[in-house]
Order: sequence, then C-alpha cells, then structure tokens
Amino acid sequence: MNALERIAALESATRALELDADGRAARTDAVRAYIENWFAQLPEKPVFMHDERARSTGSLAIEETPIGIDKALDILAEQVDSSGQNITSPRFFGYIPSGGMYTGALGDYLAAAINRYAGVEFAAPGAARLENSLLTWLAREVGYPDTARGDLASGGSIATLSAVVAARKHHDIRARDVENTVVYLTHLTHHCLTKALRVAGLDECRTRLIPLDENYRMDVAALDASIDADRAAGLRPWLVGASVGTTDLGTVDPLPRLADVAAKHRLWLHVDAAYGGAFILCDEGRRRLAGIERSDSLIINPHKGMFLPTGLGIVLVRDGSALLEAFHARASYMQDMEGMGAERVHDACDFSPELTRPFRGLRLWLPLKLAGVGAFRAAVEEKLLLAEYFYDRIRALEGFVTGPPPDLSIVAFRYLPKSGDPDDFNRRLFEAIRDDGRIFLSTTTLNGGFTLRLAILAYHTHRADVDVALQVIEEQARRLDVGD
Ligand SMILES: *Cc1c(COP(=O)(O)O)cnc(C)c1O
Repeated sequence: MNALERIAALESATRALELDADGRAARTDAVRAYIENWFAQLPEKPVFMHDERARSTGSLAIEETPIGIDKALDILAEQVDSSGQNITSPRFFGYIPSGGMYTGALGDYLAAAINRYAGVEFAAPGAARLENSLLTWLAREVGYPDTARGDLASGGSIATLSAVVAARKHHDIRARDVENTVVYLTHLTHHCLTKALRVAGLDECRTRLIPLDENYRMDVAALDASIDADRAAGLRPWLVGASVGTTDLGTVDPLPRLADVAAKHRLWLHVDAAYGGAFILCDEGRRRLAGIERSDSLIINPHKGMFLPTGLGIVLVRDGSALLEAFHARASYMQDMEGMGAERVHDACDFSPELTRPFRGLRLWLPLKLAGVGAFRAAVEEKLLLAEYFYDRIRALEGFVTGPPPDLSIVAFRYLPKSGDPDDFNRRLFEAIRDDGRIFLSTTTLNGGFTLRLAILAYHTHRADVDVALQVIEEQARRLDVGD
C-alpha cells in the first residue's frame, strides 16, 4: 500500500468519528430517552442505592470494537447509574445538596456541542462577554466595586486556589518568606483552603486555628489577639479565612468585625461562601451575609446554592488586578489575540490557572435567563425558612437534641437513646436512615459527638420533602431505641 492508499484507508476508518444529521439525531434521541427514563424513575428510587454490579468494571473496560449507543447506555444504567447517592433527588439532604437543574445541563450540552473557546476573547467575543456579564452581575449582588474581577472555575477548591494565589501575589510573599507567614482559620474552615495553600507552595506557612464562640463562629477578639501576638513575635500575618456557611453547620463568621480586624492589621480577608454565597440573592440572606462586600476575595459555588449540576465554582477578587497579576501570561502562539480593538473585554485565561476550558458560563446563564433571577431569590429564601421549620420540629420531638440554631440552611442534631452509647446509636441511626432510602442525610462530629446533619438546599426540596425527612428520622429513631 502506498501512502495515498493508506491515507484513503485511514480516512474511511476515521469516518466512524463523524456523524451526519441522522446520526446525531439517533444518538441524541437515545440519550434523551435515557434521561427521561431516569427522571421518571427517580421518585421511586432510594436516595442511596446499593448495587453490587457497580463494583465491577466488567463492560466499562475500553475495547477495540465499537458498540451502539443503546448498548453504551445499558452499560451506564447497569454499572454507573445503579449505585450510590442520587443527588438529583429533592430528598437528598447530605453534605451540600443542589439538585442539579436540568437547564444547567442543557447549558453544558449547548456549550460542548457548539464548542466556543471561552478562555480567550478573540476566539469567542460573545462567549467572553456572556461570562463577563455573569461575573459583573454576581460582583454587584455581593456588593463588590467595579474593580472586582473573577473566574468561572470547575468548583470551589480551584476557585480557592485562585484566591490564595492572588492574595499571595498581593502580599508579595516570596519563597523565603513563607515560613514566617501566618494564616488564620477555624477548625470549621473547609479543608480546600489548607489544600490550596499546600498546592500553592505555601504549606510551610503557619496556621492558627482561632477558637469558635458559643455559636460556632470565629471568635474575633481571639483572632485580634492572635495577630497581635504573631506580630510581636516578628511573624508576618497575611490571610484570614472566614466562612459564610461552614460545611458542617452552615455557621456564618461575623464578617463586619472580621473585616475591621483584617483592615486594622492589613490582612487579606478571604471568604469561603462556596455554600452560603447564594443566599445573598434574598433579602434575609443578604442581612445574614452582611460584611461580605468588605472581603478581599470570596468563592461561591453555583453548583450548590444556584442549583447547577456539578462543575462551577466562582472566585471573585475585589481588586481584580491582584487576580490579573497572579495569572496573566502570554506566549508567541497567542500573539494574534492582541489588538482586536477597543471593545475588548477581559480574556478569562488572564484571570485563571486554566487556558482551554469549557464555556462554563452557559450552564449558569441559561438557567438564570430561563427562570429569571426572581425564582432563584425565592428558592434560597424558601430554604432558609425550611431550615428553621425543621429545626423547630426536630427539637420538639422527644429524645432529639440540636446543634446551634441554623445561620443558614443546615441543622445538626442527634438522638439521645434511653440507654447505651449515643455515638454508637447515632451511627446506627444514620445507617438505618440511609438504608430506608426515602431520604439521605450525612453526619459530622460536633463537640466530639457523632452528629447527624440535614442540609436543605436543592431547588426542588419543598416542605413536603422536609416532612418526609422528619417522619423517616423519627420512625427510625423509635425503631432503634428499644432500650436494654
Ligand atoms: C463544597 C465546599 C467547598 C469546596 O468546593 P468544591 O466545589 O467541592 O471544590 C469549599 N467550601 C465550602 C464551605 C464548601 O461547602
């Protein structure tokens, strides 16, 4: 075979990668039918599913022979979608729920199918503007000035990494300074912050775990004293990591007073609002988050409180030049990006560790446009009220005790059995609730005790679902608490 014959043979083999309109339609229809079937079955499915088939890799292995879309979907049904947590369920109350709005998935589908290159304005001016307008909108909602810039990252952990690198840049911390620098957190700070410090090469920096007050919020006086002591010892305090909605309890650190302390000592105030940030969209949430506008950087996960499928965490930096300085980069193969006229908005790649990335803005833009922001405002206010509703009712049930009143939409509680070890009992209670399958919740350790927590955040979780949760929890507790 000569080269031309080989090219022709390869071309015909390569055609397997291409689809015409009928080919696309057949596959899209099959996928659609699969998804609709999933939604039709969801109400009957346990929120936590056990299926041993998902523990084998059998048909998942990559092979030379092609299979049809129906066969591929059968494999997914059997080996992927048969087991684990159904986080699209309105009765998923574990960790931080969101539900995953279908219109968000459609945004991803559109973005991937058309494949705009959103990282660079020259490549996709409209996509860049769309994403920019989302960031501007969110910056205004949180009360940041027009100097703010941000990035649409894959999640909160990467968004946090960007914030840390921007803060480091702003504070001009060089490698040899690191061991003398100090960051201030609490033990409820999400681990993504210490992980980000480690990834950013800052793991030698000293961490102070500031005590919590009686409401599980960072103790501001203790923070102030700790900074003073470190200063006096010749160290370089630089970063305060506050939480607006801790993952364990949903507690909100006292931002206005933290901002005062950070300003007094010229520290960078980073706010982890991955979970709680979306509550800014309703008036009551805005009151509870007051002071967030005084932070230097923050993260918000739309794949939590804006109900998107997994895959979007936003970082905002009040003085956007810190983010730009941290991530701006150019190379010869990017030279034609320059000089496209005065109308340029920013290139996302200059504010992000990423260059090529999905057109993530569409997954948020489409749901906001289709439902209107008002529906989101209503949904987050509803969740705040549902958490209070649950808190009042679970407390009133005989045998149950609760953690702090919810600052946002997470309620911690446990059951005190007539006899036996309460930790062991609550572990068994968690397992019984999980195996019951009507709801799913998760657990944490509070003051050393095994504690259940109900997090209410999915867009389609309503009062009836919370009532089911109350019913299941009480039923299982009574069933287990038979005494000795
Ligand atoms: C979920 C969460 C994170 C981490 O976000 P990922 O998207 O999972 O990386 C950080 N902080 C808080 C408070 C969270 O709830």
